[in-house]
Amino acid sequence: MYKEHNSLFSEIKQVAGYLWKRGWAEKNAGNFSVRLSAKAVESKEEKHLLEIDFPALANQIFLISIKGSRMCHLAKNPKRNTLFIQIGPKGQNYQVIHRNKHAQKAEPTSELAAHLSIHNMLVTSGSRSRVVMHTHVTELIALTHIPQFCDEPALNNLLWSMHPETVMFVPGGVGFVPFELPGSAAIAQLTTEKLIDHQVAIWEKHGAFSVATSLEECFETLDILAKSAKIYFMVRNSLKQAENFGLTREQLERLRNIVF
Ligand SMILES: [Zn+2]
Repeated sequence: MYKEHNSLFSEIKQVAGYLWKRGWAEKNAGNFSVRLSAKAVESKEEKHLLEIDFPALANQIFLISIKGSRMCHLAKNPKRNTLFIQIGPKGQNYQVIHRNKHAQKAEPTSELAAHLSIHNMLVTSGSRSRVVMHTHVTELIALTHIPQFCDEPALNNLLWSMHPETVMFVPGGVGFVPFELPGSAAIAQLTTEKLIDHQVAIWEKHGAFSVATSLEECFETLDILAKSAKIYFMVRNSLKQAENFGLTREQLERLRNIVF
């Protein structure tokens, strides 16, 4: 079962490298999980009780980044920095069912609750998305340090108005999650609610969660949003005073009417 996932490990290498090179993954920042299509296995491994039950994830198997892992290390050796976990038959616990010999004491990411909560919602809603990724997108974090953009409609209007690709590839915009402690049940719930109808949730002054069918797609969506934010800061810095800039309402309308 584990050898079947060599193409997934190649993708992890590539995308972890992108995150690291972008400067979105300082120290142990960032984590991801992938819901696999593998069948449940019998395992005598220790069972770890979850704080909340995730019934839709019963018997599901995930590949997940380990707590404290570095994207720069994942880019070189994804097998050492990930674990295969299986959720219990009632969604009440998880077991590590396979680990690299160099990761004997490793645990799943500290954002496990958020990952499982999001996957539970994705399965329940019949979504095709199987990947959840969290990273510290510098440009988007910077935007949420500006009070006027800590407001979902204002944030989306800005992101759309800065770059045609954002209108075309992120037409539903992003969900905004006001500041909460990372790793908490509260942030897991708020993020899950936002991802019901968005591809991306942005955590105030922290980073972003992205859901998609692949790690590559998670990255690409964040990359487009980061570009919008970057263009905004460049234009602001080059103007001596606040002026009207960005795509006009009429230009946005025309972009929204393009059929792909
Ligand atoms: Zn983080």
